[in-house]
Amino acid sequence: MAKKKEDEYCAFCGRKKTETELLVTGIHAQICNNCIEQANLILKEELKSSFDAEDFSAEIKKPKEIKEFLDNYVIGQEEAKKVLSVAVYNHYKRITQETDLNDVEIEKSNIVLVGETGTGKTLLAKTIARMLNVPFAIADATVITEAGYVGEDVETILTKLLQAADYDVEAAERGIVFIDEIDKIARKSDNPSITRDVSGEGVQQALLKLLEGTIVSVPPQGGRKHPEQKLIAVNTKDILFIAGGAFQGIERSIASRMRANVVGYSFAGVNDDNIDKDNLLQYISPADLKKFGLIPEIVGRLPILSYLNPLDKSALKRILIEPKNAIVKQFTKLFEMDEIEIKFNDKALDFVVERSIEFKLGARGLRSIIEAILMDAMFELPSDGKAKKLNISLAYAQKKFNKASIAKLKVAV
Ligand code: ADP
Repeated sequence: MAKKKEDEYCAFCGRKKTETELLVTGIHAQICNNCIEQANLILKEELKSSFDAEDFSAEIKKPKEIKEFLDNYVIGQEEAKKVLSVAVYNHYKRITQETDLNDVEIEKSNIVLVGETGTGKTLLAKTIARMLNVPFAIADATVITEAGYVGEDVETILTKLLQAADYDVEAAERGIVFIDEIDKIARKSDNPSITRDVSGEGVQQALLKLLEGTIVSVPPQGGRKHPEQKLIAVNTKDILFIAGGAFQGIERSIASRMRANVVGYSFAGVNDDNIDKDNLLQYISPADLKKFGLIPEIVGRLPILSYLNPLDKSALKRILIEPKNAIVKQFTKLFEMDEIEIKFNDKALDFVVERSIEFKLGARGLRSIIEAILMDAMFELPSDGKAKKLNISLAYAQKKFNKASIAKLKVAV
């Protein structure tokens, strides 16, 4: 015989049906809406950290495997990929080693990548984090100021990392932070005695603490707008910092150092002809970073230094089609979802690359240009229903591109 309403109750909290908003009936028991919510929260909490520590240490890939993974997403930049793969491998080996007081302590090795904007520095750091499944945050060095000045405190870099880790402090503590535009906080003069400059040396000093490894009190909401928030202690000892910057004009310092070296070592067979003058960045050394205006302590805390090459026409074309999530592949997929087969003519792709170079948009421009070319088709074809194929010829690309305002493109990038 069915129970009467007033006899029905939640098997978890004992509330009667009349005291609940909803009682869900199972085979042998019932559960109320309150308990469902509670259970849901418990479930979420349990499953929360997608950054599983055990999984992580069991699965550190070898440098070659790391590089292979990077190859799927980053075109060219062989040297940087190799250096980064080794650095990351060593870093995670270091933080997963069982420590013993008598052990040799392996020092942390943060990384600095030098190369023009849009050559893949951020992409490299992001891809490494994705492969390792560790929290990743990007911070812009230019917005950081010394405490007390208008701008963001250096701790907010870690706020972003905490947020990326869903506030799982342990996961954040072995995450990766990419510090963009590190060159912009170089002191303006090589003379350290000059009066303090807000955006330069003071910020470098503040950053130094993070790079070295220290316990930082991090405002979980960031900024200075929430003075009441409870600070979270984060140890930066095992966080890998990858700094990037264009260091515009650094070639001059490289060149003059190289010249001096060539003169000094000419007896050893090193001569001017051996130097690849078109790509001086490959010879970059910590001394050049110091000359540029990074304080020696910061340079010392970024011991791994590598460079990225400017992207030429063929690299840009490869970027369009080769990476796992290449732009052309992404748009092909988008059209496929509407059952439209899209084909890009080779000449149309060359056109995209050339425009990107012409407008000095580099790799970042490729997407905007393709998007401009496909805008009409993306707008019209889904409701057309008949079109099953779309061929992007050179003429089509030219016509659509010329229709799109270039000014708009520049803003979009
Ligand atoms: P940077 O940090 O050097 O300024 P990014 O890594 O942000 O440059 O690059 C901008 C975009 O350009 C990336 O999101 C990516 O789509 C593309 N890109 C740049 N360099 C490469 C590369 N070497 N391989 C593949 N894509 C690249």
